[in-house]
Amino acid sequence: MKPRLIDVHTHTQFAEFDIDRDAVICRALDAGIWMINVGTDRRMSESAIGLASKYEIGVFATAGLHPTEIHKKFDYDFYKKLAEAPKVVAIGECGLDYYRVAKHKTRNLKQKKAFEAQIELAHKLKKPLMIHCREAFTDLIKMLQVSRSKLRDNNPGVCHFFSGSIEDAQKLMDLGFSFSFGGVITFAREYEKLIKFISLDRILLETDAPYVAPALYRGKRNEPLYVEEIAKKLAKILDKDFEEIAEATTKNAIRIFGLA
Ligand SMILES: [Zn+2]
Repeated sequence: MKPRLIDVHTHTQFAEFDIDRDAVICRALDAGIWMINVGTDRRMSESAIGLASKYEIGVFATAGLHPTEIHKKFDYDFYKKLAEAPKVVAIGECGLDYYRVAKHKTRNLKQKKAFEAQIELAHKLKKPLMIHCREAFTDLIKMLQVSRSKLRDNNPGVCHFFSGSIEDAQKLMDLGFSFSFGGVITFAREYEKLIKFISLDRILLETDAPYVAPALYRGKRNEPLYVEEIAKKLAKILDKDFEEIAEATTKNAIRIFGLA
């Protein structure tokens, strides 16, 4: 069965879903929505993989260390082993975050080191990167350009919750990257120009649940089912039918992450 929509960046393994995790996942799957549960550290990567193996179809995982979790060590061999599990479809979320981690030389250096190691891991395992970047696009793009030979020729990865400029987007597109958008586009208008600028074959849907629920559910816990709201808003911004957006973004996700 082919999915109707794919939430490429969600965290149903987080504690916020401890009371009803399976119900949340099942109501998404029942609505034809597949999901990728994104790891943020060792434990959350392991739980994401555990969840993926529990469901026969439609639930995938990533393994990696989030840049704000940098006080935890990036143990290359440990993550390599994790990432070799069949349902791990990307490395990350990894990248740079100078917003939540106050600019501090040693911390920046630590983030860069962990990101570099995860670029290497993605290269070794021929998997795409799931990138998190906040207020650090100049450094991030520089690092990706330097590592260009280690990025996959086609579809090296996705910048999730993209908040960079149009110029940043262009540079990342030149490197082959795609972009996922979530709840924020349903209540903040500053993304419209950017979304119109990026070609539709580089756009994906995400919820980043439990965070940033779309306008209709604002303030509540977010969940993969609500990805439908993101597709609706994208259709509005791009002046296209919902079905066209659903089909295009689903195709993109299947292609980039090799979902089957
Ligand atoms: Zn996330």
